[in-house]
Amino acid sequence: MHRTHADLIQSLVRRNIIKDERIKTAMLATDRLDFSTDRLYEDAPQPIGYNVTISAPHMHAYALEMLRDKLIPGARVLDVGSGSGYLTTCIARLIQPGGKVIGIEHIPELVESSIKNISKNARSLLDDGTLEIATGDGRLGHPQGGPYDAIHVGAAAPNRPNALIEQLKPGGRLVVPVGVGSQRIMIYDKSADGHEVHEHASLGVSYVPLTDKAKQWRH
Ligand code: SAH
Repeated sequence: MHRTHADLIQSLVRRNIIKDERIKTAMLATDRLDFSTDRLYEDAPQPIGYNVTISAPHMHAYALEMLRDKLIPGARVLDVGSGSGYLTTCIARLIQPGGKVIGIEHIPELVESSIKNISKNARSLLDDGTLEIATGDGRLGHPQGGPYDAIHVGAAAPNRPNALIEQLKPGGRLVVPVGVGSQRIMIYDKSADGHEVHEHASLGVSYVPLTDKAKQWRH
């Protein structure tokens, strides 16, 4: 357990999980305190209600590192299953000025609480339109905001998420955990001419599933 957010981020740098200076700066500015209530600075997922968790800090760092070439000023990004809003906020910091990130989340209460979290941490990102949270089924993506330079999915898809691949720009990258039971982070890269998709498997992981609202949570 780390005492401060800065200690937590420093440990991710020491473990060589955060490699990029820009990512370090973005994560440092995005204090877990504004997004979670429990065991704030532990490198582990924590419950945020509705049967889901805010991801572990090292998973946020891996996701940002896997997308880092795409997370540049001016980029358009989709964060599916934005949950607490933590990763969406880090992404927003990396793509300004001129960029836009849309978080899509299917639990309206989480949409509301994530907007509160983000307001505490970085109100200006909401005010200037760099960051927006939409309510909806992220399995379908968010075609009206696309196409995207980068798409991140914070919950596991059962198989290849073709609807999301379609919403990538030529040269765009999708990072998504795929699998039922045992999952791997899959990276899908759309070629520069937009005709091909290269895929490769990365880390083995354990994410909550991308699912139906009613299956995840009943009032
Ligand atoms: N990156 C987020 C991850 C939250 S857990 C964070 O660190 O806070 C995954 C999130 O995906 C949950 O908030 C869950 O409600 C959401 N989710 C699951 N299925 C979904 C779907 N079909 N559409 C949109 N969001 C979904």
